[in-house]
Amino acid sequence: MLALVKVAPGPGLELRDVPEPVIGINDVLVKVRRTGICGTDLHIAAWDAWAARTIVPPLVVGHEFVGQVVAVGSNVVDFRPGDLVSGEGHVVCGRCRHCLAGRRHLCANTIGLGVGRDGAFAEYVALPMTNVWHHWPGIDEEVAAIFDPFGNAVHTALAFPVLGEDVLVSGAGPIGLMATAVVRHAGARFVVVSEPNPARRAIALRMGATVAVDPRERDLREAGRELGMVEGYDVALEMSGNPAALRAAITAMAHGGGVAILGIPTEEIALDVNEIVFKMLTLRGIYGREMYETWYKMTVMLQSGLDIAPAITHRFSFHDHEAAFAAARSGDVGKVIMDWTA
Ligand SMILES: [Zn+2]
Ligand SMILES: [Zn+2]
Repeated sequence: MLALVKVAPGPGLELRDVPEPVIGINDVLVKVRRTGICGTDLHIAAWDAWAARTIVPPLVVGHEFVGQVVAVGSNVVDFRPGDLVSGEGHVVCGRCRHCLAGRRHLCANTIGLGVGRDGAFAEYVALPMTNVWHHWPGIDEEVAAIFDPFGNAVHTALAFPVLGEDVLVSGAGPIGLMATAVVRHAGARFVVVSEPNPARRAIALRMGATVAVDPRERDLREAGRELGMVEGYDVALEMSGNPAALRAAITAMAHGGGVAILGIPTEEIALDVNEIVFKMLTLRGIYGREMYETWYKMTVMLQSGLDIAPAITHRFSFHDHEAAFAAARSGDVGKVIMDWTA
């Protein structure tokens, strides 16, 4: 089969002919139809410091996908050939305290699809059946392809109650864009998106942002006051990993607010802990999705009118993977989809 492979340490990915995955008795083999390009994939392609210490080549990359089941192991009864599925990209151990308690997203032994094991940028991908999600009828196939990052967005957006609250979203990459639509759907009053890139600010407005501001030009507290916020933001979703963005969010929060942090910084961030203490803020790190409560919520929110499709802006055949990665890297895009059927 053809797959996008990190062949050796160093920058680049190669489209190569590799053996199809061999499935065990508990596994599901999926013929991939569409995939989403994630920041993680860009890091691996570029071979930055994180990739160099994390990735062991050769590795098939990619973890955001939708496809059809083509074969199942002898122990698998819930999946049949032809089923439309996506994969939860975090393969957990099933044996630790949190896994046994049903809090699988907290597993400390998580292995990432396309990071610690061969991934989904391929014609076929294999996963344990406990990592496979059946799509409900009526879910758009492109949206189904990005359930993994959509899950990040939902998990972060719903980390704190947002009904009637004023929300700051810092960073309007694909996950920030989807989170904007989610908090709007979940009943937030004002949603202020902070994002330096004008193309992404424009998409944020289509996703339901009340205003989208350039943080280099606008003070976030000022933007909130103009809308009529009484004290500051009740909830902040930090999606950028940028030190200045996290500090600005903390400064702009109302007392008792919650800051959900999904963006991954590349360096340590110094924070004014006095502000956190005297404002009695809660900072919460978010990684991955809840298995499978987040997946359930994604599905039912789509059924009840949530539309995240505007976050998908570019589509390429997998043969044009270089152009697809270049688009994703440019930062002027929402989610970039690769089609593995043509
Ligand atoms: Zn991803
Ligand atoms: Zn575990």
